[in-house]
Amino acid sequence: MATELVLLGTAGAPLPVAGRGGISSALVVDGRVFVIDCGRGSPSAFADAGLDFSRLEAVFLTHFHVDHTGDLAGMVLYPWGIRADAKGPLPPIRVYGPPRLEALPEGDELFHRETTISPERPAPGASDLVGSILASYAYHLNVMPLDAHMPDAGALVRGVDIHVPARAGGSPQVPVMVFDDAAVRVTAVAVMHGHAFPALGYRFDTADGSVVFSGDTTVNDDLIALAQGADILVHQVADLGYVERHGTTGAELERQAALHTDVTQVGGVAERAGVHELILSHYLPADPKAITEAEWTERAGRGFSGTTTAGRDGLRRALPRAVS
Ligand SMILES: [Zn+2]
Repeated sequence: MATELVLLGTAGAPLPVAGRGGISSALVVDGRVFVIDCGRGSPSAFADAGLDFSRLEAVFLTHFHVDHTGDLAGMVLYPWGIRADAKGPLPPIRVYGPPRLEALPEGDELFHRETTISPERPAPGASDLVGSILASYAYHLNVMPLDAHMPDAGALVRGVDIHVPARAGGSPQVPVMVFDDAAVRVTAVAVMHGHAFPALGYRFDTADGSVVFSGDTTVNDDLIALAQGADILVHQVADLGYVERHGTTGAELERQAALHTDVTQVGGVAERAGVHELILSHYLPADPKAITEAEWTERAGRGFSGTTTAGRDGLRRALPRAVS
């Protein structure tokens, strides 16, 4: 059997747009399903793609902006009823992501919060988030088993915090081993996404090949090192010129540039990483009518000698690649 990449949703930024689902991808390895980010509509996209919720093993969150996490609760809770076999509950779905921040980052005069939500735990991590979801849906989890046979709710999900070492004076990061078994190895590095620290990029290595997910990042040497020689790099893309022409200027545009890799830069990232195929995702602007796939492909592919593909919801890529 092979490894297959499926793009479940390709929109960047939280505001829902018509015609593109929120950011989410799946990697299927011999039928085992690994999901990267759970943006808007991802559980429905998972079903539309014909993926098997009983084979969902883990979710890997790149960071905690809501466009990446908004439908995590559904991804975990909707398939609860089938998370069992004759022997009992299936192993818990593991939800990997950054740990909580102990202290909130400072703002400045232009960009600051007014109210601090949940000041006792203002920046929860992956295991906190999973705990909050279970607490928020405790009614469902505690009451539904009285009316329908359900697997043990205590076996449904586990949050796992990924601790990335503090940066040591600009020296290259050693990727963190997140997950490793006979068939799948997942490693991660911290990338740069404004104040969302740590935001993570993930690399999946299987017997069929390697797929790297950039998460949201500016151009980042550690991500380029992580992606070295991968078969596929799924990379976010933004057109900051478009954003500027549509009214984001000055300091706000500078903030956007500190969050994202621009369409003029992403081909260079893929070239330096030496990947075979660059697949664009997490589009900003997200509206499919704003910029055509042909234009995204043409502009993003400049400076990259491999294949550039404009990702779209439902796109699939099988590994190993057909030899041509
Ligand atoms: Zn995002």
